[in-house]
Amino acid sequence: MSAVSAKIQDVFNEPGCDKNKGKSEKERKKGCTKQLAPGAAAGGCAFDGAKIALQPITDVAHLVHGPIACEGNSWDNRGAKTSGSSLYRTGFTTDISETDVVFGGEKRLYKSIKEIIDKYNPPAVFVYQTCVPAMIGDDIDAVCKAASKKFDKPVIPVNSPGFVGPKNLGNKLAGEAILDHVIGTEEPEYTTPYDINIIGEYNLAGELWQVKPLLDELGIRILACISGDAKYKEVAYSHRAKASMMVCSKAMINVARKMEERYDIPFFEGSFYGIGDMSDSLREIARLLIERGAPAELMDRTNAVIEREEARAWERIAPYRDRLLGKKVLLITGGVKSWSVVAALQEAGLELVGTSVKKSTKEDKERIKELMGQDAHMIDDMTPREMFKMLRDAQADIMLSGGRSQFIALKAKMPWLDINQERHHAYAGYEGMVELVQEIDKALYNPVWEQVRRPPPWQEKTWEERANEAIAAEAAALAADPVMAEAARREKRVCKCHNVNVGALEDAIRDGKLTSVEAVGAATHAGTGCGGCQGTIETMLDAANASGAVPASLAA
Ligand code: SF4
Repeated sequence: MSAVSAKIQDVFNEPGCDKNKGKSEKERKKGCTKQLAPGAAAGGCAFDGAKIALQPITDVAHLVHGPIACEGNSWDNRGAKTSGSSLYRTGFTTDISETDVVFGGEKRLYKSIKEIIDKYNPPAVFVYQTCVPAMIGDDIDAVCKAASKKFDKPVIPVNSPGFVGPKNLGNKLAGEAILDHVIGTEEPEYTTPYDINIIGEYNLAGELWQVKPLLDELGIRILACISGDAKYKEVAYSHRAKASMMVCSKAMINVARKMEERYDIPFFEGSFYGIGDMSDSLREIARLLIERGAPAELMDRTNAVIEREEARAWERIAPYRDRLLGKKVLLITGGVKSWSVVAALQEAGLELVGTSVKKSTKEDKERIKELMGQDAHMIDDMTPREMFKMLRDAQADIMLSGGRSQFIALKAKMPWLDINQERHHAYAGYEGMVELVQEIDKALYNPVWEQVRRPPPWQEKTWEERANEAIAAEAAALAADPVMAEAARREKRVCKCHNVNVGALEDAIRDGKLTSVEAVGAATHAGTGCGGCQGTIETMLDAANASGAVPASLAA
């Protein structure tokens, strides 16, 4: 069995996973990976998952060993923010070619590592294995080991070629890489009874920074966040933390569990989304730290901060409650915990009409039922057509989802809000809850929806109907204003050749006492061109004669 296969077997056997616990040994070996239907969007390969999980370590160079497309597709597609180095956002790839496929890409990989160290001197280089070099047999473990020795710098192999499975498996393989090669390799300058790790938090849109100030205020130190806004050395000495909070167990349960096993660091699974869950997480962090030796007064201080922050958040949310009350939401989440977002939305007065549970565990589903009732509409795998129908039939007022399903909402001309990893707004903590409410309000009440829902002009009426309406409107306006109607009548052109209108002809006939078409022609030039208007002039002369504008003796 190859090293990668053995590692995958190990990950599949995860005893910390609730789903896994209920399986037989044979089922566990098979793992959770489902065969993809041909043509289906895979939602990210294992390499992509590994890169997502580790790229937020900001000061290391992330080198992708493979063809350009692997790095090109995954470069900087998530908004993990940094408070220091920006090296993590530089795309490094060995960009292997056909020649490397024939002769092997190990030399090229070694040279690339050297070049990066020469140019950037990062504290470490992470090397990601992808499908092509894995299939031609490049041994990245050996190359990394040799480079590490030669350059006296950690060069970490991340063995996660895309073909081994989906994104989620890649997250765990990334966890294995840091467990094997990074965690426990350095020591912090000092430790305190208040040191914690946060695992599975990626600081997307700066969410960690909505939580950190509260922890700072309580004197709780984030020894390492794995991996949002992390520095290499923080991950390396994270084994000295007193407790851990697991933010996304789907991604890195293996890291939390193995750290508990190896370094005796207890962990709990919590969420920073929603006021209630945020408060629970703060309390749980305090409880675990007290259990591990922190003074008991920490809990009192934590409760005081929670009370203050909850009151502040509710006060800021209050002006929106009436506007959001009863609005219906369709929630299609990917990575973030559905139950956690459900609770947050309910706190804001919104009504959930359905939530996706595609990636939820049995426990997650139970929590959703607790929140939404036993009849909760939990959607395992909703097709785009079903989503569209749900929105179009106004069973929902807004859809909250990832970027990939946004076009379904936009086609249904319904508001949509991005809550997945590509989002630009941070929704964590009390501050994030207020921001979420504000963003939902902005999306729901954006005037653009009223405009785009109007039928387009070409579907509204035929051109004849529109023309008739315009004529009728003009006639109505003239009927309502006799002066305007008279002016419009006199404006009418009779002689097109010499541009003579009704008013000019009537005035000439009356003032000049004209009685023949020729006389009118001599006075106004009307009727002297093509002659087409001579009949109209005759009619006008008859009318003038009848009305007495021209004396009968002359008219005869
Ligand atoms: S599936 Fe393989 S080739 Fe495709 S992006 Fe992932 S690692 Fe690269």
